[in-house]
Amino acid sequence: MGGGIIGLSAALELAAAGLQVTLFDRGRAMGEASSAAAGMLAAGDPDNAVGLRALADLSRRLYPGFLADVERLSGERVPIRTTWAIQGGPEVPESSSELGAGELEAAAPGVTTGGLHFFSLEEKSLDPRDLARALPKAVRASGVTLIEDAEVTAVVERGSGVEIETRSERWTAERLIHASGAWAAKLTGLPVVPRKGQMVLVEEIGVPRLKVVLRTPEIYLVPRGDGRIVIGATVEDAGFDKQVSEAAIGRLLDQAAAVWPPVREARRVESWAGLRPGSPDELPVIDACGERCWVATGHFRNGILLAPGTARLLREMILGETLSVDVAGFRCGRFALSAVS
Ligand code: FAD
Repeated sequence: MGGGIIGLSAALELAAAGLQVTLFDRGRAMGEASSAAAGMLAAGDPDNAVGLRALADLSRRLYPGFLADVERLSGERVPIRTTWAIQGGPEVPESSSELGAGELEAAAPGVTTGGLHFFSLEEKSLDPRDLARALPKAVRASGVTLIEDAEVTAVVERGSGVEIETRSERWTAERLIHASGAWAAKLTGLPVVPRKGQMVLVEEIGVPRLKVVLRTPEIYLVPRGDGRIVIGATVEDAGFDKQVSEAAIGRLLDQAAAVWPPVREARRVESWAGLRPGSPDELPVIDACGERCWVATGHFRNGILLAPGTARLLREMILGETLSVDVAGFRCGRFALSAVS
């Protein structure tokens, strides 16, 4: 259950392993956090939790094959939009070296440092809206039955199967994966909550100038390669509210202009909000949560990056294969559960 990038990637992986997969989404596949994201594959972001490192590296390695499969099966392009990120912070991590003024100017002409120290990261980004077009198509083409507007309302493990109720039908499956993003608490009892993120899209006037992702502790700018730049993002605890606030968007634009002044002249195109699934320790939950049920949620700020690695781990767990990375930090048992389906 759950047709975001996590559920869809898992469906693709399991179908490729020969399983018969049905995927339910309460709305439209890729209609929630997964299409609201900026699309940075920020495996090397020094602000990532240390516990993410191995899964992030696994995902980064799997990404080229994942995108190739999605493109082949869907017939849609999902291009890599940027291949480098320039990150500014109060200090430069030991593993990186600070960019000199000339190097910084060459990478991002016109950037204002504001006293921060900048370094570069070999990090790609994609446009999640490209994935939103391609991934559901690819999943269907791989033989998965994708059912939209079908909210799962109850899950009961009974003997050799799992009984699943949607608003209009009852199904029985051999196994179920909860991949319901920010809504996961409802049927799993896990302490996963929505962490709202607001974003704004602008278009540079004239020749596009920003060619790399520009990121500071306060703000990121993610160019799409065609003059459009996504600027984000807030992190708010606002329940399931997805309203966009002018004040928040104004702050994002001001913070972006402080590091990248051309934003002041850029044309504002669109703004939106999405709900990241957040766990208390900001690490995902990827685990069995019963004899026949698994859960994959809590990917917080990195679910686009972590999707192929999560799908691989789910396949390995479900089929009893050797795990590619240690999952001790992703277990359900690290939280006190209020209810388990
Ligand atoms: P979702 O995409 O929210 O999908 C969950 C799905 O489950 C939804 O489609 C929902 O309809 C469905 N569902 C819920 N309940 C039920 C039910 N009962 N029955 C059936 N279906 C159900 N990540 C990155 O890696 N890089 C980024 O640059 C990045 N930027 C971001 C910027 C913003 C503003 C936001 C909001 C997120 C960003 N993220 C980023 C995080 C990333 O978007 C999420 O971690 C990821 O999308 C989570 O995927 P998901 O499939 O778990 O959740």
